[in-house]
Amino acid sequence: MEKTLVIIKPDAVKLNHIGEIISIYESNGLSISKMKMMKATEELLKKHYIEHIEKSFYPSLIEFMLSGKIVVLEVTGEKAVSKVRELNGVTDSRNAAIGTVRNLFGTDLQQNAVHGSATAGDSSKELEIWFKEGEN
Ligand code: ATP
Ligand code: MG
Repeated sequence: MEKTLVIIKPDAVKLNHIGEIISIYESNGLSISKMKMMKATEELLKKHYIEHIEKSFYPSLIEFMLSGKIVVLEVTGEKAVSKVRELNGVTDSRNAAIGTVRNLFGTDLQQNAVHGSATAGDSSKELEIWFKEGEN
């Protein structure tokens, strides 16, 4: 069994799509093993998006991620990392395959409804950032 981190981003939370997004994971053989709603902080986002810190879109990404509440999920299942990435669709919502989370609920390249860890290595790092040890 593999674990991955999903963040339902502020755009999708504001548009009341939390339930529908979770349903997509659950109806595709994945389980929600941890979940919390919260406001992100600059400190957490800096750790999470460390690979993008020098990119031109970083300030606007941080502003977007701080623009409302997020829902943080630990998703568990066989091949959870790649399955979630497939169910989420490509980064730019406008190019995401029909029926994917980003196709259904995202708007563009930045406002793309969800984050999913890219690799198993990333998922363990990201789960440590968002769920501190012992936290359910
Ligand atoms: P995520 O990491 O959120 O699952 P991803 O791996 O498909 O998405 P990344 O390249 O890691 O995409 O980018 C992280 C996030 O930064 C994207 O999900 C998107 O919200 C935002 N982003 C990426 N590229 C751009 C860009 N060129 N302009 C604006 N925002 C961007
Ligand atoms: Mg990424």
